[in-house]
Amino acid sequence: MTAASASAVLDRDGLDALVTVLVAQGRTVVGPTVRDGAVVLAELTSADELPYGWGVELDAGRYRLVPREDGAAFAHSAGPQSWKNFLHPAHERLWSADRTPEGQVAFTAEEPAAPSYAFLGVRPCDLRAIAIQDRVLAGGRYADSGYGRRRSGALLIAAECTEPGATCFCVSTGGGPAADTGYDLALTEVVDTDGHRFFVRVGSEAGARLLEQVPRRTADESTRTRALTSVEAARDRMGRSLPPVDLRALMGSSMDAERWNDVAARCLTCGNCTMVCPTCFCTTTEEVTDLTGDHTERWQRWDSCFDLDFSYLHGGPVRRSARSRYRQWLTHKLSTWHDQFDSSGCVGCGRCIAWCPAGIDITEEVAALESETGTETD
Ligand code: SF4
Ligand code: SF4
Repeated sequence: MTAASASAVLDRDGLDALVTVLVAQGRTVVGPTVRDGAVVLAELTSADELPYGWGVELDAGRYRLVPREDGAAFAHSAGPQSWKNFLHPAHERLWSADRTPEGQVAFTAEEPAAPSYAFLGVRPCDLRAIAIQDRVLAGGRYADSGYGRRRSGALLIAAECTEPGATCFCVSTGGGPAADTGYDLALTEVVDTDGHRFFVRVGSEAGARLLEQVPRRTADESTRTRALTSVEAARDRMGRSLPPVDLRALMGSSMDAERWNDVAARCLTCGNCTMVCPTCFCTTTEEVTDLTGDHTERWQRWDSCFDLDFSYLHGGPVRRSARSRYRQWLTHKLSTWHDQFDSSGCVGCGRCIAWCPAGIDITEEVAALESETGTETD
C-alpha cells in the first residue's frame, strides 16, 4: 500500500495526540475554534480548543453559532476567515528605510522566517482555493516571496464536509465535499453509536510520517463506509447552486444586463465579499513615514475591486459606479479568471453570501443574469 492510499482511524485521543505532536515539532497549528460568536481560524495549542459541539446556521447576510448534541468538531461550514489570512495576510511590511547620519538612505528588506504552519480542518473548497492562490501568488514571473515562504512548509490536514451550510455550493463549481488532492492527511469525522472517531486518508509522505506518530487503529469497514456515505450524502445537501450553464459565456453576454442596476442599488461597495473570499488576492502598497521623516516603511495590504481607488488611472477611477464594480468582480470571478489562471475564481464556499451586509447572494445574481440574458444550458 502506498502512503497516498493508506487509511486509518483516530479516536479523539488520537486527534489530541496529532495536535500535541505538531506543537512539539515546533509547528504553528491553526484550526477552527469558537471565538466572538463565530467559528474562527486561530492558533491552537491543543485539540480541546476545536469547536466540539458547535455548528453554524447560515443564510444571506446571516451567521449564527448553534449548539450540536453530537459533540462533532468539524460539523460547521466556512467561517469569516480563510487560510489566506495566514498565507497571504491582510497587512505585511515589505521593507523599511532609514536616513543615516551621513545623509544616505539605508534600506532593509523584510524577509522574516515564516512560521512552520500546520492547518487543521481545511475544507475541500479551501484546498481548491489554496491551489488557486498557489497559481496566482507562487507561480509566474512575479511570485510573492512572502507567500512562497509561508506556503512551502505548510502541512494541510483536511476535514471533509459532512454538514454543508445553507450558503455552500461547491458542487456546482466543479468541486465537492470530498478532499480529492492537495492534502497531507484528510479526516472524515464519524459520530454514531460506535463512538466519536475520524477516518483518516493519507495524501503525502509527510502525512504518512505524521500519522505514524499518533495512536491509531486499522480502518474498519463500518467506519470507512460510514465516512464515505456521509460525504457522498453531503453532495446532495448543498444549500445553493449556480445555474448549470456556461458561466464564461453568460458573463460575456451579460455586460449590458439590467440586473447590474438592481444589484448596484443594494450593494454598499464595502468590499466584504472580497475580504472573506479565499481566492481574492489583490493588494496595494502604501508608504508610512514617521513624523521626523527619517524612517519610512512600505506595507502591502489587501485591496478590493469594490474600492473606488482600485481602478484609479490618470485623472480618476475607471469604474466609478457600484454597477461597474460589482460587474467587474463577478465577471472576473466566473469568466476572465479562466483566461488568466485556467480555472474559475469561485470555489463555492459561500462566504461572500453569509458575510455580505446587504445579503447579496452570488448564486441569485448569476441566476438572475441567466434568466435575463437567456444563455442556453449545457
Ligand atoms: S456585494 Fe455585499 S459584501 Fe460585496 S461589496 Fe456589495 S455590499 Fe459589500
Ligand atoms: S466568490 Fe464567494 S462563494 Fe466564491 S469562493 Fe469567493 S467567497 Fe466563496
